[in-house]
Amino acid sequence: MISGKKSEREKFAGALETYAIEAMMSDGKALQMGTSHNLGQQFSKVFNIRFEDRDQKLQYVWQTSWGVSTRLIGALVMAHGDDSGLKFPPNIAPVQVVIVPIPTGNWKENILPLARDIEKKLEKEGLRVKLDEREEFTPGWKFSEWEMRGVPLRVEIGPKDIQKKQVVVVRRDTGKKESVAQSSINKKLSEMLKQIQKNMFEMALQFQKQNTHEVKDYDEFKAIMESKRGFIKAFWCEDRDCEEKIKEETMATIRVILMDKDKKAARGKCVFCQKSTETVVYFGKAY
Ligand SMILES: [Zn+2]
Repeated sequence: MISGKKSEREKFAGALETYAIEAMMSDGKALQMGTSHNLGQQFSKVFNIRFEDRDQKLQYVWQTSWGVSTRLIGALVMAHGDDSGLKFPPNIAPVQVVIVPIPTGNWKENILPLARDIEKKLEKEGLRVKLDEREEFTPGWKFSEWEMRGVPLRVEIGPKDIQKKQVVVVRRDTGKKESVAQSSINKKLSEMLKQIQKNMFEMALQFQKQNTHEVKDYDEFKAIMESKRGFIKAFWCEDRDCEEKIKEETMATIRVILMDKDKKAARGKCVFCQKSTETVVYFGKAY
């Protein structure tokens, strides 16, 4: 994710400043979200919204607007999901662990009570757990369904696991299976959820880095936008004509302008007109 200011052209009408988060989706396109505006006193003057200050004088309020909306959820689906469906980061997953008992033999006497014990143990640990004891579906059907719903961890319990005092745990982020001792399942699963959270963030960040290009010139810019998409980090002279021409020719727009603190190189040349500038921006194709 990259955050920064929006260019003049994309500011919300009347806002003094507009800040945004841009995230790269798995197809290399940019999605803007969580946009916030410093609206200043523009609207409070129009609608006459005032307050009495400490000197008992009437003042127009200063307003901000925060775009924390369902678009953030859309970004989550598109950035992390795969061909099997959703992939929830554990911290916000409605269900973090699903337990699927394998229904063979006298499973209701042998396996189900243990599954219920494990459910309680994990809930006590503070985890969000679901025990799937539906009888009308096969385990395979359930595995696919919970994968599609993006549950970070699946616990399978079969007759062999009872004997070995273990369970099989499958990670949604990597698909890796491992056996976990029943005695330490609460600690182990908490740990695994933390690892998944970290791994999912790192994978998304790595994808963004791999697909963010710095270009020498405008020809290279055009070639990348045609073939690979992703973000292009480049200098821009702050002239709107340059931005418009780049958009016409490549469909890429300025997604964010880097804040001063994030700039590394001091000066460079505008990728389009070669004019000297200090402003660094990210270009990308937006939804
Ligand atoms: Zn320029």
